[in-house]
Amino acid sequence: MQTPKNIAVVGSGLVGSLLAIYLVKRGHKVDVYDRRSDIRKIEFSGRSINLAMSVRGWHALDEVGVGDAIRKIAIPLYKRAIHTLDKPMYFQPYGKENEAIYSISRGALNKMMIDLAEEAGATFIFDQKIWDVDLAEATLYAGSADKSERKAYKYDLVFGADGAFSRVRHKMQRRSMFNYSQEFLETGYKELTIPANEDGSHKLDKNSFHIWPRGEFMFIAMPNTDGSFTCTLFMPYKGINSFEALDTEEKVHAFFEEHFPVILEDIPNLVKDFFNHPTSSLVTIKCFPWTYWDKVALIGDAAHAIVPFYGQGMNVGFEDITELDGLIDQFGDDWEAIFNAYETSRKPNADAIAELSFRNFMEMSTKTADASFILRKKIEAKFFNEYPDQWVPLYSRVTFSRKPYAEALEQGDKQRAIMDEVMKMPNIHDNWESEAVTQRILELLSA
Ligand SMILES: Cc1cc2nc3c(=O)[nH]c(=O)nc-3n(C[C@H](O)[C@H](O)[C@H](O)COP(=O)(O)OP(=O)(O)OC[C@H]3O[C@@H](n4cnc5c(N)ncnc54)[C@H](O)[C@@H]3O)c2cc1C
Repeated sequence: MQTPKNIAVVGSGLVGSLLAIYLVKRGHKVDVYDRRSDIRKIEFSGRSINLAMSVRGWHALDEVGVGDAIRKIAIPLYKRAIHTLDKPMYFQPYGKENEAIYSISRGALNKMMIDLAEEAGATFIFDQKIWDVDLAEATLYAGSADKSERKAYKYDLVFGADGAFSRVRHKMQRRSMFNYSQEFLETGYKELTIPANEDGSHKLDKNSFHIWPRGEFMFIAMPNTDGSFTCTLFMPYKGINSFEALDTEEKVHAFFEEHFPVILEDIPNLVKDFFNHPTSSLVTIKCFPWTYWDKVALIGDAAHAIVPFYGQGMNVGFEDITELDGLIDQFGDDWEAIFNAYETSRKPNADAIAELSFRNFMEMSTKTADASFILRKKIEAKFFNEYPDQWVPLYSRVTFSRKPYAEALEQGDKQRAIMDEVMKMPNIHDNWESEAVTQRILELLSA
């Protein structure tokens, strides 16, 4: 046990509420502030947004004994279901048999995590926006927009888990030697819902992550436990096929009829929903340092917001927490040493998964339907089966292992260079299962 401290966590999102559980279990007194109202008391909006949990996320939940409660609301997805225009739908397994990512409703997960954190002993203070932070004094200024009602709350430590547009980070940004960058993608997204069949069953295979890759834009669908699918259309803001171009009901109808005819059948109010739901932006945010002495630390999206194409944003935030917890074991009461080691070890990994996520948009939207890409994946999978110690595919390393993201990026680049050579072999499309291909990979690996 560490010496108990008074700790404030700003943000009761996924990362803030899990962090609260970890800190309370360490014996600290933890207050979690959020500017929004208690999501457990707000009437369900009718839209279910979901995300994919993978090995790093589950590990963080299991370490504090809450994984099994959350597994009850998760649906395993073992494969991608690829929907192209010119072929029947086909599957691409994600990993080995039984390896899956898990679709979970963001709202249900967040509610459950707040319940679990409260049961553990954390206190949640809702409808309290943090406007300012005195970093040196670990003091929060919370309350109404009108400054007259703001109160100061002094703590021993403050964690900024307040998301991509963090107020805590905003204060750190004003200091000298604080590096910061934000980059918006020219692709935005819109969420839509495929409702359940009348009997409550799913309209598509429920154990698959569905992708309709169309080059510069794509449509994806992930299942919910109520039989519906949460879908996301990713598309450029401007250009021929863009959100800007789809400005009338007729154009939206014609666009889906041309590119996604099946979806047009599956979403009864598609055209109306398209205009009722907002178009949202995607941003990568990087910054450093993440901590201020032994007083303040950023965690989750506040430290590193990434684009969602690897399904890792929450997972990397949860991994921040497990890594921090390991450092608490190592350094005990020396919070300055904990924070130093935390930001030093996490930063290269956060940068690596930001890069991998950015690159994965092209893989999902274009390459999943490309014959040469599919062949590369088959050759890799065959070699991985035969030599599991020598070749862990990049997707498996990121999603089904807890090896550092920076190592995954480096190994992935090496593997890509090897596969570029293998794909140059004569008649590779016919001979991909031959011993010569295996020998060539072994040779390139040892070069
Ligand atoms: C379209 C999309 C799909 C995604 N899919 C996946 C996926 O499949 N898998 C995955 O792992 N990740 C995914 N992510 C990423 C994931 O959603 C985020 O990484 C994760 O929600 C970050 O959690 P967080 O707790 O750090 O921040 P947030 O969830 O943003 O929570 C921040 C909290 O802080 C509160 N707050 C903010 N400012 C203040 C303030 N001044 N005072 C008080 N409270 C404040 C907010 O109200 C909020 O409750 C996706 C993201 C997007 C956009």
